Amino acid sequence: MKTTEEVFQDWEAVIGLEVHCELTKLETKMFCGCKLEFGAEPNTHTCPVCLGLPGALPVPNRAAIENIVLAGLATNCDIEKHTMFYRKGYMYPDMAKNFQTTQGPKAFCMRGWLDLDIDGRAAEERYNIDALQPGDAEENITRTEEGYVAHVGITRIHMEEDAAKLVHIGGSEGRIEGATQSLIDYNRAGTPLMELVTEPDLRTPEEARAFMQKLRQVWLALGISDCSMEEGSLRADGNVSLRRRGSKELGTKTELKNINSFKSLHDGLAYEICRQAEVLEEGGIIYQETRHWDPSAKRTVVMRVKETADDYRMFPDPDLAPYDLSDEFIETVRAKLPELPDAKAKRFAESFGLGAYDARHLVEHRATADFFEACMDEESAKSEYAKPLANLLINDIAARLNTGWELDASVLSPKRMVELVGLLASDAVSSKQGKEILTAVLEEDKDPAAIADERGMKQVSDAGELEAVVDAVLAANPDKVEAYKGGKTGLLGFFVGQCMKATRGQGNPKLINQLLVDKLA
Ligand code: ADP
Ligand code: MG
Ligand code: ZN
Repeated sequence: MKTTEEVFQDWEAVIGLEVHCELTKLETKMFCGCKLEFGAEPNTHTCPVCLGLPGALPVPNRAAIENIVLAGLATNCDIEKHTMFYRKGYMYPDMAKNFQTTQGPKAFCMRGWLDLDIDGRAAEERYNIDALQPGDAEENITRTEEGYVAHVGITRIHMEEDAAKLVHIGGSEGRIEGATQSLIDYNRAGTPLMELVTEPDLRTPEEARAFMQKLRQVWLALGISDCSMEEGSLRADGNVSLRRRGSKELGTKTELKNINSFKSLHDGLAYEICRQAEVLEEGGIIYQETRHWDPSAKRTVVMRVKETADDYRMFPDPDLAPYDLSDEFIETVRAKLPELPDAKAKRFAESFGLGAYDARHLVEHRATADFFEACMDEESAKSEYAKPLANLLINDIAARLNTGWELDASVLSPKRMVELVGLLASDAVSSKQGKEILTAVLEEDKDPAAIADERGMKQVSDAGELEAVVDAVLAANPDKVEAYKGGKTGLLGFFVGQCMKATRGQGNPKLINQLLVDKLA
């Protein structure tokens, strides 16, 4: 198979996402009073409504509707004041009612959008991005210094309910194929579930991943869900089709179901793009089908051919009255909107003099953003600390957070962090030593300055002292100095390494570099 880069020379990928999010912060289910609790003893949170017993009457959860309106306002949607709940018929053991309650053509939230910042390697996936200059706009993207901004339409966000959880025993990877028994846990049945549908505006797997990550940040900031892809409270379906470059018609799409990690979303879509290209280039046709991404086999397999909307027999639920939202309700919800990641990044850039890239990555985790502010609020913090502090948070702390680690402010307090940044900013320790100190603070629960003392860490930034070292290294390697002057400038790294060795790792590498460049000129 070709790579996506090769495929993109001739084909344009069209991607749209359907994102499901359980409103895990609510107390109770969507249409009954059963408690929401992840991981509870199976089938202990059920009642006649969520078990679909005859005659049971549903009542919509007002707090859930507050949550979805909040989500709509946060993603620039129009809020529909008059909507209805519909029954979507389907027969499967995970839905005892034999229908799912969802919304019809009009959802609570319609016509929204999000802007995505795509930079670095992720931006390179977009075909011919280098042909644009910063500021240039083309289709839904605008070129920036580090990449581009993509404007992505949100078709709708509707309210529905989750199905029960099926556990298949005996098959591989817990799937139904080859299973000997299936168990059902109805605790999850009736969990308030939002579904967001995007326009087919995404063009690369990286854009799809960035969309999901941004959405997750926004929803986390709203505090409406824990958005855990591992636990299944955040799930995505990826729809993708190909068309020849220059064509405006949509091709036939396939749908990747229930992707449960950002990496799988990217890799599954990338695989599907390459598979479709191969089929089309061999003269075959793409069937509209649902496929499953198998991350260990690194391929997609067919689950089923697509059912059409008619198969669901959607009709307004006669047990639920049309749902009207008052202006007052909408305004009360709007007043609860917290500062969103984009606004926070803008504020950080403006008030702390950070670059757009740093500011954006700083707000990716609420923990790093909050911690950054707490540090800059410390009395000992200076304005020039902002940049090195942001670096540590983005590179060292965020990397730990991505593995599920949690920042414990009783060990790594803002005061200690500022002390460490102070050591770095004054060149008292090198950036490498800074990383070592950070790890030691976390492991030993001690102050940074004490650790630096204990380990005899200090960075030699005295120009006179370093000049002597540089002279000695150059004198000891006359042949290499000749070679360098003859054009082998790559030897600079060797000289820096020798000087660092001579200072037992304590020389200021920036200064050493400068001294070497000057002396070798
Ligand atoms: P379905 O009825 O199959 O669910 P929808 O029209 O509801 O299809 O769209 C579902 C998702 O698929 C949306 O995110 C939409 O943007 C996307 N989509 C629709 N048509 C295409 C296509 N031809 N190629 C890629 N994505 C598409
Ligand atoms: Mg659909
Ligand atoms: Zn119930």
